[in-house]
Amino acid sequence: MVDSVFLAELSWREFQEKISANAPVILPLGATEQHGPHLPLCVDVVLPTGVAARVASEVGGLVAPAIPYGYKSQPRSGGGQGFPGTTSLDAHTFALVVRDVIRDLGAHGVRRIIVLNGHFENSWPAVEGVDLGLRELRRDGIADMEVLRLEYWDFVTRPTLDKLFPDGFPGTELEHASLLETSLMLLLRPDLVAMDKIPSDGPAKFPTYDMRPLPENFGLPASGVLAVAQGASAEKGEWLMADHVKLISAAIRKEFRL
Ligand code: ZN
Ligand code: MN
Repeated sequence: MVDSVFLAELSWREFQEKISANAPVILPLGATEQHGPHLPLCVDVVLPTGVAARVASEVGGLVAPAIPYGYKSQPRSGGGQGFPGTTSLDAHTFALVVRDVIRDLGAHGVRRIIVLNGHFENSWPAVEGVDLGLRELRRDGIADMEVLRLEYWDFVTRPTLDKLFPDGFPGTELEHASLLETSLMLLLRPDLVAMDKIPSDGPAKFPTYDMRPLPENFGLPASGVLAVAQGASAEKGEWLMADHVKLISAAIRKEFRL
């Protein structure tokens, strides 16, 4: 029997066996989005998938294939849709993809799903997708599906943040392509990080509102890096990963009584 945490690497019989034992399934939600000149477009897929794989080993779960496109990048959290390569879904399309995956997993016996988000803008459309998926399942007579939905970056301790940002944490939105994501990429896929291309045109200085169309002078750094990536390291990525895995696994054990 193949022993992989990645659901798609199993045969249907192996999948069925794990699901009959009530294995929770983690669904990573990603994006194909610019992450500055030093990181690839796949950061928001690589990071939640990497966290999910470690969490799955901890809790005896499986990782479903990540959704590789996300809801539209917003200027104040991801640089916006103007950057070449940022390829996104409309909110309702994204929500319906989440809905369909939850419904089909449920139809095949999965009863515990963790929706693990890796792209800031996905949050509310993901809530909608979960809601629609559960509604469809209830209408199909399946009322015992449980879904835990989360943003992986929220699972970090204060001491870790203080260690990473001695001058104060800039906040999750501005962390786009910055210290946290760059450090986690150095841990998971150092081959995809170009440290010599880290720009220094940040941090962003946005007003507290959105404007459409986006004005020239809105405080968006031309590089697409919203805060500061200097000082990123695989060691810092390891600190973050340890917190993410420990705290997310604890939440799953608590809510799913494992
Ligand atoms: Zn990202
Ligand atoms: Mn993103």
